[in-house]
Amino acid sequence: MTEIVVLGAGPAGAAVALGLKRLGYAVRVVSEWRRFAAVEGVSQRVLDGLRQAGLNRALACAAAPSPRRVLWNGDGQSINQECLLDRTRFDAAIREDLQAAGIEVLEARVLRVESTDDGHLIHVEPGEPLRGDFLVEARGRQAPLAGGRLRGPETLSLLNQWQDAPGHPGSAVESVPDGWAWMARLDDGRCYWQITLDARDLSPKDQLPEYCAQRRGESALVRELFGEAALQPASLHARSSTAILFHEASGANWLRVGDAAMAVDPLSGNGIFQSLSSALQAPAVINTMIKCPERAELARQFHQRRVEHLFLRFARTGRDFYALEQRWPDQPFWRDRCTWPDVEPMHAPADFSQVRVERAPVIHDELIEEVEVVVTADQPLGIWHLQGLELAPIVTALRRGELNQALTALPEQQRRMVQGWLLSQGYRP
Ligand code: FAD
Repeated sequence: MTEIVVLGAGPAGAAVALGLKRLGYAVRVVSEWRRFAAVEGVSQRVLDGLRQAGLNRALACAAAPSPRRVLWNGDGQSINQECLLDRTRFDAAIREDLQAAGIEVLEARVLRVESTDDGHLIHVEPGEPLRGDFLVEARGRQAPLAGGRLRGPETLSLLNQWQDAPGHPGSAVESVPDGWAWMARLDDGRCYWQITLDARDLSPKDQLPEYCAQRRGESALVRELFGEAALQPASLHARSSTAILFHEASGANWLRVGDAAMAVDPLSGNGIFQSLSSALQAPAVINTMIKCPERAELARQFHQRRVEHLFLRFARTGRDFYALEQRWPDQPFWRDRCTWPDVEPMHAPADFSQVRVERAPVIHDELIEEVEVVVTADQPLGIWHLQGLELAPIVTALRRGELNQALTALPEQQRRMVQGWLLSQGYRP
């Protein structure tokens, strides 16, 4: 029986462990606790991902949606919603989900890993070294760096927390000349303020508490959300938030998931979503690497391409959001971020001449398998099914001049759906 060890019990490590356990693997998780408290904001997509992963206790930690004020580019404000998450409670609930599924979680710090083709020896503290045949690296941003990598502008977030009286929850985000700040108030009175700056611009470490207090004091939005209590002393923690893509997301007997594979800029507000995305596909990838070694390369390629694709999507989303702030184009913070990682548009315009059928890896029956998919300019990884309908046979029929026959064979609703999709891709009959 293959022994799989997952390093890190964040959302990514837990989602992989639960998926592998469901596939019948012997899986253990080794993790220490996060060393700082934090509040994060999550969208419905994150909640859906947690549900899909089976992290139900973690899901229950998300507060009901509360209003979020957005002050960006100075020319107006909008209000939307997000669910606030107390990370300390959330991380504890993740472990309860693992334990409820019968997965052992060893509380220890991983000091180093010795890897060979035959397996891994994991040195931990406290405790004796552990052996694993397959390793899942899910230690988030703390995972050791490996291989060449793509890094965004060096960015640091300073986190402040203090306690106030219980009240209505809410959050806000605002742009400032040298960065942006996100702030939240939980219903139990915990207050959280986080400023994200260029790492080159920072004051000396011993001056940071005073610097943060001054920045909180300057913000009208801070006063509005927290009142005078925002000026009281607060705890401080500095956290790197540079966007990082690790080029190598797998080896012959290991896989990286979550922030350990790619960590996105927190501006996207989607860190947990992206960490779950790479983790939810991982059990099928690992299953293939172990059970169908002849398809191991295909499975690794599947994982790698998806991780890279997702990273670039998030990086470009962040870039476009930075570009919306136009008051300080010459400030290094804004200048460097509104053009990184490239100038490619978020979505490639529809171009039917580029729609083609190719063979590509997909997940099928918990394994990675190569099938015919439809590749478009905007979906380079290919589309296998359109709402349950295999798309490649339709495009093949169209290229052969047999579209009408293929459409006639479909029920009315699917026919309309396919016609709508073809038109959206630039096809003109
Ligand atoms: P993590 O959640 O980091 O889990 C890694 C686990 O590994 C932790 O339990 C850690 O203790 C453990 N570990 C690390 N090193 C070791 C070791 N040596 N030995 C043993 N265990 C170890 N995302 C959102 O969706 N919304 C937000 O509002 C948001 N805000 C953010 C703000 C900032 C400033 C930053 C930097 C990130 C933010 N994120 C946000 C992103 C989010 O925190 C991460 O994307 C997400 O937690 C990644 O999940 P993960 O499982 O990959 O890693």
